[in-house]
Amino acid sequence: MLRRFTKDPTKLMNLEEGALKELAITPPKRVDKPTYEIVGPVERYDMRDYTYSRISLKPGTPNYKEYYSRHPQQEAIDDDMRKRADKSGAERLQKDPVNEHIALSGFYGTMAVSPPKVVNSFKKMPLHPPGRMDVVKLDLDPEKMATKLKAFALHLGAFRVGITRLNQDWVYTHNNAPWGGPVDMDYENIVCMAFAQSPFMTDTLDGFAENFEVGWMYSYASYISIIIANFIRNLGWRARPLPAFNAPYIVPPMFVDAGIGEFGRCGYTISKEVGNNWRPGAVATDMPLAYDQPVDFGIQDFCEKCGICAEQCPPGAIPKGRNAKTVVRGVRRWQVDDDKCYRYWTTIGHACGVCQTVCPWSHHNNLFHKAVRETAERFQSLRTLLIKGEEIFYKNKRGSEPKWMTDDIFQVSGER
Ligand code: SF4
Ligand code: SF4
Repeated sequence: MLRRFTKDPTKLMNLEEGALKELAITPPKRVDKPTYEIVGPVERYDMRDYTYSRISLKPGTPNYKEYYSRHPQQEAIDDDMRKRADKSGAERLQKDPVNEHIALSGFYGTMAVSPPKVVNSFKKMPLHPPGRMDVVKLDLDPEKMATKLKAFALHLGAFRVGITRLNQDWVYTHNNAPWGGPVDMDYENIVCMAFAQSPFMTDTLDGFAENFEVGWMYSYASYISIIIANFIRNLGWRARPLPAFNAPYIVPPMFVDAGIGEFGRCGYTISKEVGNNWRPGAVATDMPLAYDQPVDFGIQDFCEKCGICAEQCPPGAIPKGRNAKTVVRGVRRWQVDDDKCYRYWTTIGHACGVCQTVCPWSHHNNLFHKAVRETAERFQSLRTLLIKGEEIFYKNKRGSEPKWMTDDIFQVSGER
């Protein structure tokens, strides 16, 4: 983001592509349909079944009793994770309270803007004098409006923006907050915005910096979603911001449809520009907007040959080996074991960013890495060689915590 102060941001944009120019040598190839495979009727997902949702249930509450009466086999497994999370979180706070609180503070922004009362607010700009600026639904050119929205979002910090039909197959059946509430995402379109995380922060794998960066980018993306949604509302069209803690849809297929990237083995959407090292912000709307096509830069074949994230995932939650895709609710894809992943998080007391950091597509955007990505996209026969090079030269890819967190001069001690 510092570039914003040293270069005219408009010159950094490729508006036809909806992306920042300098992150890749050429944009990814556009295709007619997404590269995931639909092989049967798609079943929508119930967010209450997601590990994080289950772990947030408080024992003894009506929601807890209701959920485990339907899933009795899950109760002991989830209780174990809740206990681990309490213990490891307390230990980390005890060990380094100052940096631990910095790590957690990144999430406060998205927590502040995710409640329904914020998501539903500002439907009419409160700064207008009453009666003087009634909202009128403006008749806007969908192509031009899509381009303007992309420019707006890129200016506000996204690195890639795509617009697609809001496919109800990717919307949850039930939400987790409020628990079991009906999901209302009855909109025509969705504006998908991807915000890059700093590799200098996420390279710490499970460190303070990685945890802070994830929360901070969720918060930042959530805040921009609110701005864009309220801009659209004030042009007279329905719009709903989708901040991180109030976004009842499955991110990867929606962002794949919008041309942000492709579904990877790690379960994230891999972009050509920053790999999987980014966080989503989005706005659902009825405003007529031109759609983007999905992209294909060879990730299905690359991930089939690669598997570095699967080898390095500490609890082995990512499927390993060739032909490891399975059919999940009607879609053939790689399926991460969320329970194994989250159990590991609760054991270490932090989120883990290993699969984001070790992915060859997530390297820093210097000329060398951009050239390697370009080669990987264009020359399928060289992919195995590139992956070998990655395994040799980036075997131990843990970066250091930022000096301002760890240097002695910044160390703070306090009575507890
Ligand atoms: S976040 Fe960590 S534990 Fe979870 S899938 Fe990725 S590497 Fe594995
Ligand atoms: S590490 Fe390799 S297999 Fe995993 S998502 Fe990245 S490219 Fe795909």
